[in-house]
Amino acid sequence: MSTEAIADETIEFQAEARQLLQLMIHSIYSSKDLFLRELISNSSDALDKLRMAAYQDKDLQVDTGDLHISLVIDPEARALTIRDNGIGMTREEVVDLIGTIARSGTGEMLTKLRQARDSGGSEQATAELIGQFGVGFYSSFMVADRVILVTRKAGSERGVRWESTGEGTYTVSELPDAPQGTAVTLHLKPEDTEDALQDFADPATVRTIVNRYSDFITWPIRMAAKAPEGDGEDAAPEVQVVNSGKALWARPQSEVSDEEYAEFYRHVSHDWQEPLETIRLSAEGTFEYQALLFLPRHAPMDLYMRDSKRGVQLYVKRVFIMDDCEALVPEYLRFVKGVVDANDLSLNLSREILQQDRQIQLIRKRLVRKVLSTIKTMLADEPEKYSTLWDEVGRALKEGLLSDHDNQQAILEICSFATTYEAQGAGSEDATVSPAGPARPTTLREYVDRMPEGQDAIYYMTGESRPSLENSPHMEAFRAKGYEVLLLTDPVDEVWVDSVPSFDDKPLTSIARGEVDLGGGDVDEDTKKAFHSLLAWMGTTLAEDVKEVRLSHRLTDSAAVLVGDPGDLTPTLEKMYRAMGQQPPKVKRTLELNANHGLVAGLKAAHDASPDDQGLADTAHLLFGMALLAEGGELAEPASFVALLSRRLESSLS
Ligand code: ADP
Ligand code: MG
Repeated sequence: MSTEAIADETIEFQAEARQLLQLMIHSIYSSKDLFLRELISNSSDALDKLRMAAYQDKDLQVDTGDLHISLVIDPEARALTIRDNGIGMTREEVVDLIGTIARSGTGEMLTKLRQARDSGGSEQATAELIGQFGVGFYSSFMVADRVILVTRKAGSERGVRWESTGEGTYTVSELPDAPQGTAVTLHLKPEDTEDALQDFADPATVRTIVNRYSDFITWPIRMAAKAPEGDGEDAAPEVQVVNSGKALWARPQSEVSDEEYAEFYRHVSHDWQEPLETIRLSAEGTFEYQALLFLPRHAPMDLYMRDSKRGVQLYVKRVFIMDDCEALVPEYLRFVKGVVDANDLSLNLSREILQQDRQIQLIRKRLVRKVLSTIKTMLADEPEKYSTLWDEVGRALKEGLLSDHDNQQAILEICSFATTYEAQGAGSEDATVSPAGPARPTTLREYVDRMPEGQDAIYYMTGESRPSLENSPHMEAFRAKGYEVLLLTDPVDEVWVDSVPSFDDKPLTSIARGEVDLGGGDVDEDTKKAFHSLLAWMGTTLAEDVKEVRLSHRLTDSAAVLVGDPGDLTPTLEKMYRAMGQQPPKVKRTLELNANHGLVAGLKAAHDASPDDQGLADTAHLLFGMALLAEGGELAEPASFVALLSRRLESSLS
């Protein structure tokens, strides 16, 4: 034995962990019994991991002949132990995994929690937030005032003992001999029916909880039952397996209850909610597989983070192979959770090999189509449910418009967008009077069905916020014409629009880019001729800032507007690139003038009268700055704009 035994150590929990623990200790959850599900779920994961490790590493000396979970109750000590002979943990792992929370989104969740509490949020809301995050091992502290974890990693000689009351610190010490695997012993708080604290030292209670939450766990969960009556005082208790252990996806659909699906969903997703939708899928014949998939009610905490995980597990013939199987789902469907169980794959699969595997590719294809068609059906039959889903995961789904060309049209069918439609009050003249609340988003199908005679494109505008889009000068002609415009304000919208040419044969057209012809005919030849000299002069004067100056079809009220070319970087995108520390090339746009506007007409008259007047150049620059401000843009040099403006105002007053 090594002589350099590490001394006992008292260690502080990481700050986030401490805060989470406080929440657990003073938990307002009514379902405190969920702690058992969390611990059994961890044990089940540990057994899966050991089986895979033993399979991949032939040198690992472990006995995998009797992998199981056992529950041991000591009524006198009011202690409940959850033990497994799974992978176990090293000392470092115990400190890293149990003493800290490394999960992404922790900081954010704690901030949200604090806000919810400070603004007097309901206990329900707080519980929901914690639930969304998933609290795992720490849920032990809802029911126990002292928790002891003893573990030994497979292949390692020394065991580790971890103990804590959940109040700030924990102690870790070494154990010369500990059985391989992990045992978590809870010293239970006194029963308190007021606080939803059942008697978890009662075998009948424990059995009921296992049946309710963990029946599908594929490893046997054993529990010592009282010796049958008449066997005398010291008969050994009979050990029973308390779960059925049947994989849900292998059972006939009609036999599985919603409750069972919900519990399984919680196990795979670490979400505490029920799933929004359950999807089953299977194939027979040359290669067989079954899939059980779920759509969430809430976006996973890490959905929009860089290291966000995908949620589908791969099994081969009921044997767990891997978590987050990226070969099975594209990134934009990362919110889909569940299991795929394939019959004819080798157990010895690396992630790299999986990506190339033809069967996996076929499963993935079918899975994607099934998820998209399920959402489409939801949209048609259960619009409320659809809009819950869309609000939570729509931004992720839209990434598919960019990355999944094969399914682009299918994805378009299930997208929803904010629109000017209802804001126009269905024929009402005054666009500023919108009906109560923001208008309901629209699908492209609905948009197309509403398109009036003569409109042949689907119009949209991208930008940073709904108000800035609604008030943009670009909107004027469309409003006058009664054409609906989609208002796209998610960052991802800036990108996918360029890769989607059309929907239902109607081109998707930006109202802020390119020429628009709303059927009002061309500007007449006389006007063109009359403005020719002004436009040429302004083009030269503003050459630093604009590509060209031309007359506009799209303005009714404003004097000028800036228009990009199709395919050019939009101002919002340019800003996003800068925010990411990149230096995109400066994009010049075209300045369009409204020939009927007093300011433009006046400028033309002044220019015709004395083309060399220095003050006119100032006015040209002001017009450009005004167009930029009107669309919500930022002036490159606000101070010089203000100086210019004040000079012009002064001269007009004197
Ligand atoms: P999660 O299960 O969501 O990762 P938990 O708080 O439940 O979060 O567990 C934290 C980590 O501690 C697990 O991911 C796992 O690595 C480790 N762990 C917990 N319980 C066990 C166990 N019984 N055996 C081995 N490792 C465990
Ligand atoms: Mg867990």
